[in-house]
Amino acid sequence: MALIVQKYGGTSVGSPERIKNVANRVAKWKAQGHDIVVVVSAMSGETNRLIALAKAVQATPDPRELDVIVSTGEQVTIGLLAMALKDIGIDARSYTGAQVRVLTDSTFTKARIQSIDDAAMRKDLNEGRVVIVAGFQGVDEEGNITTLGRGGSDTSGVALAAALKADECQIYTDVDGVYTTDPRIVPEARKLDRITFEEMLEMASLGSKILQIRSVEFAGKYKVKLRVLSSFQEDGEGTLITFEEDEKMEKAVISGIAFNRDEAKITIKGVPDKPGIAYQILGPVADANIDVDMIIQNVGEDGTTDFSFTVPRGEYAKAMGILEGVQSHIGSKSVIGDDKINKVSIVGVGMRSHCGVASTMFRTLAEEGINIQMISTSEIKISVVIDEKYLELAVRVLHKAFNLDQAA
Ligand code: ASP
Ligand code: MG
Repeated sequence: MALIVQKYGGTSVGSPERIKNVANRVAKWKAQGHDIVVVVSAMSGETNRLIALAKAVQATPDPRELDVIVSTGEQVTIGLLAMALKDIGIDARSYTGAQVRVLTDSTFTKARIQSIDDAAMRKDLNEGRVVIVAGFQGVDEEGNITTLGRGGSDTSGVALAAALKADECQIYTDVDGVYTTDPRIVPEARKLDRITFEEMLEMASLGSKILQIRSVEFAGKYKVKLRVLSSFQEDGEGTLITFEEDEKMEKAVISGIAFNRDEAKITIKGVPDKPGIAYQILGPVADANIDVDMIIQNVGEDGTTDFSFTVPRGEYAKAMGILEGVQSHIGSKSVIGDDKINKVSIVGVGMRSHCGVASTMFRTLAEEGINIQMISTSEIKISVVIDEKYLELAVRVLHKAFNLDQAA
């Protein structure tokens, strides 16, 4: 008998029928003798609807009040799921984040969990009940409702699993696991039986939308055993996110290809090549709360150099505006930008022990005539920036070049 935390995303609870299906699945696990804590998202589309509603009343919604509003999505699904379980004879009880006491800081709309009180949940579990908890939400010291940022129910699930020392945290979603890449682009993409925690973290931060990055960080910190599965399949083992040291991994060099369409590039040309320039350029960008990702500075020539970096596409106009101001100030030649770029990354812990991975990647892209505009690497990933019109081609040829369509 195990203690299992199951998290169901918005599509999994998107209609009364689907909520009943979730109840049946929970009942099945319960019948096997397990203790079950369920974390749910709002019904699909509901959080967007609530945000739009708030914006219709106040263009820039007050953050505290916005959290009061958006947290209601999850409050509805916990009640509905509890009813669906009771309807099939399973004792269940729903809890909002505040009722559990998922204590967070007071950063409305992106609060961080500080502690979770497990007392009420334990008591219910001991009395044989299924515990249902609203994802995405918590409460601060003053009793204000907070939310954890978009996609935050994943983090709720993992954090509850950590607090309860659950044997496994199962994330149920609309795909049956983590794939080598997006199957909509590469039909040969394969579901991975296992992926290391580090690889999953890279995949999540490089644009794979399967898990919220923070939930993966949380799982790493507290060594929560995480599994991604489909809520639309009867069986299936999904993908287990493992800690490399405990597992003999599949022997592939590359585990997956991630990509991000939400990128833009800015270059400042003819920057004086002297100390303090990177700070003068990126300081104002950071002060405006814009995330800078890749950064390249060329070797100087004639006392000047070119400096390029990438930002999220939504922040491109804002960043260009800032840089135009900075440019005259530091005496560079010009600022140019491109918001039609994408980032493609190959990820794999196998890179550590294999050489030639980068050259295979670059050769593969060269053979298709795809120009690489920027490169960045870490121990287990290589990312390149390319023209967005080549994204799908790049992902397909790389998938093939690294034999990702063949079982390891
Ligand atoms: N309902 C929230 C959202 O749409 C949280 C979640 O689904 O994880 O972002
Ligand atoms: Mg989600």
